[in-house]
This record gives sequence, structure tokens and C-alpha cells, in this order.
Amino acid sequence: MNDILLLKQGEIVLKGMNRKYFEQKLISNINRRLSRIGKFRVYSVQSTIYAEPLSDDIDMDAAEEAMKKTFGIISMSRAAACAKDKDVILAAAKEYLHDQLMAASSFKVESKRSDKTFPMTSIELSQYVGGELDDAYPHLKVDVHEPELTVNIEVRDYAAYVHGNKLPAAGGLPVGVGGRAVSLLSGGIDSPVSTYMMAKRGVMIIPVHFFSFPYTSELAKGKVIDLARELLDYCGRLTLQVVPFTHIQEEIRDKCPEEYFTLVMRRFMMKIADKIALDNGCGAIITGENLGQVASQTMQAIGVTNAAASVPVLRPLIGMDKEEIVTVARKIGTFDTSILPYEDCCTVFTPRHPRTKPTLDEVLEVEQALDCEALIAEAIANTENIKITK
Ligand code: ATP
Ligand code: MG
Repeated sequence: MNDILLLKQGEIVLKGMNRKYFEQKLISNINRRLSRIGKFRVYSVQSTIYAEPLSDDIDMDAAEEAMKKTFGIISMSRAAACAKDKDVILAAAKEYLHDQLMAASSFKVESKRSDKTFPMTSIELSQYVGGELDDAYPHLKVDVHEPELTVNIEVRDYAAYVHGNKLPAAGGLPVGVGGRAVSLLSGGIDSPVSTYMMAKRGVMIIPVHFFSFPYTSELAKGKVIDLARELLDYCGRLTLQVVPFTHIQEEIRDKCPEEYFTLVMRRFMMKIADKIALDNGCGAIITGENLGQVASQTMQAIGVTNAAASVPVLRPLIGMDKEEIVTVARKIGTFDTSILPYEDCCTVFTPRHPRTKPTLDEVLEVEQALDCEALIAEAIANTENIKITK
């Protein structure tokens, strides 16, 4: 018999009336992800979701990896399924948990039984298996209060399951329960992290990238596609929108004073993102902005940029230190791609002395020189949609 995955729901269990909806969303996200690996039966019993492979040739390591990145699951265990017999259960524990039993110095056995026809009570089963394991592994101490290893046994309708300590999983809320948002994805370190953080709060993401070919190369675009691919395991489904930004940047360069280049450019990004958000049923825009990191991220500059959007702008990184952001980027696997050296459109026409304390009025005045509406319409009309796949 193959092993199965036991997935513990996190915060979802707190959600009262919405609980059923949250759980259904999580199960459908789990089903979609596991369907790429093989056929599974997925069902929930008392806030644990069981994912049971339906054939023996399924790659359970791949399934475990996929589930570790599925938001809404707070911890998980891989359990061996075996026949409902005390000695078969003991043999399964010895075989399946051998490495963990060797590595631990103390342990306890905890049993649950939903099949009440099983001939032993939970306590009797724990005592039997605990006693036998204690004899078989002389280095192990029994510690019922703070054991290093808990050997869990569950006797259910069709089989018994044996598993060790829980493994931590991604936490958060199932993607989809938090609505949808457009996420501005550059090639940098920050925006993949801000995208991940909002997906973790259950937000379905539409990534948008502004592309200034030929000032930035196809390689820069490829890098953003790679970043989106790295985020796919967390975000579920992603279709990257690549917005041509060259004409807008050239117009800004030709018609605006240099010190306003970045501000005006960032306001264009916001206006276009806002339009894409409204056209796609999104309730917010996400950015990787971070207070004080660069000239365009002073409080005044953020205020001027913010005024260009009608939907709320979410900035999950606003109060983080760079080091904290880098730690997350490494953890989620985007860091190495982010530091590849291809130029981003922001660096193409960087002013030597950017305005750090702009007012909205002066920026609106500067924008008078541009036909903003036509430029935005043109950019949106030529946006390329790229469905991200593994
Ligand atoms: P990042 O590391 O995410 O690029 P950053 O520190 O370089 O951030 P900026 O370049 O000022 O900061 O950009 C701030 C935010 O604006 C980014 O985090 C991202 O959300 C968005 N952004 C910047 N450039 C682009 C782009 N070319 N396409 C899409 N979004 C962008
Ligand atoms: Mg950047």
C-alpha cells in the first residue's frame, strides 16, 4: 500500500460561517495541483484533509512538495497506510519511521480510532505499540510531555495510518478566498516577494510587467517569466500581462523635466495597472514598494504615485528591511533569478537628481505635456498575455 498525505488546515478553521467555502476552495486548489502528479482521492475529516494516491506508481515526493507550497495548509504528515491489525501497525511504524526513531532520543505513541469495532481502545493500542518500540529501540526514552518524536496512529474505516512528527507547510489562506489583484512584477528582488505575500493571504494574482524593448532585452522579459514560473507553485494559475512601455518612456524623456521622469513613469504604471485591474475584476494593485528604499519611495513620492490609482494599492513590504525581504526571496526560491543582471525599465531613463518631495499638483502640471489617455490605450491594446506553465 502506498503512503498518503494528511494535510492540516490552518486559519481556515477559525472562519466560522465561511468555513465550508474556505475548505472547498482549499480542496479544489489541492485537487488541481495534485492532478498534475497523478490520480488522488481528496477528502476532509475534522479539519484534516486526506490526499490518497489511487495507484502505486505516483511520485509522492512530488505530491509532498506541491502540498508544501499550497496556501491554507499549516502542517502536513506523510503517513503509511496499513491493515488494521496491531502487529501490522507496529511493523509499519518500525519500517516507515525507522530513521526518525533512530534519530530521536524520546518518543510517545498517540492513537486515534474512528473505527470503534477495532478490538483495542486508543490507549491500549498506544501502550502496546509504545512498549514494543521501547524494547526494539533501547536508546529511546518514553516522554509523554515533550517527546522529540510522536508516533501517531489513526485507525480509520478502510485502513490504519502511521506517521511521525508533522512537517511545517506554507500556512496562509487558500488562493482565491481573498479576491483578485494585479501585481506589478519587475525583475527585481522585491516584487516577487510582495506577490508571494499577498497570494499567501488568499489573493488570486494577475502579474503585470512593463517592458521597454529594446532598452531592456528579451532576456529581461525571460527573467520575469522565470520569476512568474517560480511563483506558480504558490499562486496556482498565472497569466502574465506584458505591457509595452517604450513609447511612454520615450514620450516622458522627450517632454518632461528630467527630475520627474521616474514619478511620471510610476504614475503611468499605476494608471495602466488600475485599468487592467478594473477590466479583470481585481480589487487592488500590489507593488513591492518599500519606504525610503529609493527616491521614488519616499512618503511624498508614494503619495503622488498612489493618487494615480482608483483601487487600493497594497504594499506588503512597506516596513520591511532589505535583509528581511531577501530572506523571504531565498526561502521561496526567487532570489537567484532576481539578481541576474538584466536591466529593468526603471533604470533606463533614471534622472540624475530625482524629486524626492514632489507635490501632486506639480506632477499633474508636468503630465500636461503628454497625451496620457492615448498612450495608456495604446499600451493596453498591445499588451501580450503569457500563460505561465511549468
Ligand atoms: P523590485 O525589486 O520589485 O524591482 P525596486 O526596489 O527595484 O523593486 P522600483 O524599481 O522603484 O523598486 O519599483 C517599485 C515597484 O514597482 C516594484 O516592486 C514593482 O512592484 C513595480 N515595478 C517596478 N518596475 C516594474 C516593471 N518594469 N514592471 C512591473 N512592475 C514594476
Ligand atoms: Mg525595480
